[in-house]
Amino acid sequence: MCRDLARIASDYIDGELGTGKVMSVKMHLLMCGRCRSFIGSLRASIELMNAHSSQQLDEDLVRRIDERVSESLNARRSGNDTSDP
Ligand SMILES: [Zn+2]
Repeated sequence: MCRDLARIASDYIDGELGTGKVMSVKMHLLMCGRCRSFIGSLRASIELMNAHSSQQLDEDLVRRIDERVSESLNARRSGNDTSDP
């Protein structure tokens, strides 16, 4: 059962397990301290990973927005130049 739990632990944390499996996982966690700490550390590392990846995404998004803004500024400037010689 501990091995089964390790296999489905990430699905359990992501909330992708059916109700029956979630119940059996919770029952096992009630009885098994080792799996409780395993789930706890796995959840912490997954949350850390998610936070890290979203931070990277934000940095990328900010850079893209910056590029887009400077692009539109250049386009507007050149547009002004052609419409108002
Ligand atoms: Zn266990």
